[in-house]
Amino acid sequence: MNQPEERRIALVTGASRGIGRAIALALAAAGFDLALNDIARQRAALDQVCAEAIAHGSKALAVLADVSHRDEVEKMVADIMAAFGRVDALINNAGILIPSPIVSLAESDWDAVMDVNAKGTFLVTQAVLPHMRARKYGRIVNIASIGGKHGAPAQAHYSASKAAVMGFTRVLAQEVGADGITANCLCPGIIVTDMGRTNLDDPETRAQWIRITALRRLGQPDDVAGPAVFLASDGAAFITGQTLNVCGGIVFS
Ligand code: NAP
Repeated sequence: MNQPEERRIALVTGASRGIGRAIALALAAAGFDLALNDIARQRAALDQVCAEAIAHGSKALAVLADVSHRDEVEKMVADIMAAFGRVDALINNAGILIPSPIVSLAESDWDAVMDVNAKGTFLVTQAVLPHMRARKYGRIVNIASIGGKHGAPAQAHYSASKAAVMGFTRVLAQEVGADGITANCLCPGIIVTDMGRTNLDDPETRAQWIRITALRRLGQPDDVAGPAVFLASDGAAFITGQTLNVCGGIVFS
């Protein structure tokens, strides 16, 4: 996709497994060099993904940081700038799900989910933006969820955090468009990852998700990677402020 002499640099958060890993490897296959983030406890898995990206011919740098902590995020972006000099594409993918019905939802769980999913997206974006603005180029892809549109029982805080990501992205697109930066959301449906399995423990629930999906199957991480690579590419230059459902046909608006 990219010419070798103009390889793009992408930062993917939460890249050690699941959707983030799939996006990272698809970006590598598309000719991007990579800064791959995850939280410190995932160091070994992140190093493995870096090795896989390098096998695709990409440069890959592991950058450990908790995206909900401003100091760690700022150090991460400084390290990436020192290594690569720029970030062309940012994929805000890191996220957590801690199911709980509202009546018994702990305030600490509300805060944790909002901190990683919503504030983390804000903090990483804010740290990267000045560098994109200086170069008048950027692609920001925020991983929201169909849960942020519909929601599901025991996921009120998760749904609120993903609705926040969508609202944030729409305003971001309006603020940075004049600088040549696009910002869009993907809303995955039920994707088979460690997080996705939270929705799939019960065989009847799993069967029900498949029944209500137009394509009659669950999603795989690679199903999200293709749309993410497209929105991160030069070909998506005139798309901004949009939210794309990647759910096999569960949500239609
Ligand atoms: P996953 O398998 O749980 O992977 C998420 C990764 O993010 C994990 O490696 C996780 O590390 C890391 N992470 C968590 N907190 C972090 C933090 N504070 N800073 C940096 N990294 C952090 O999840 P996934 O299913 O691939 O989900 C990826 C994204 O897609 C999330 O934003 C999720 O909300 C969204 N999504 C997923 C689905 C689905 O069905 N899977 C559907 C819709 C949307 P730890 O495991 O150590 O916490």
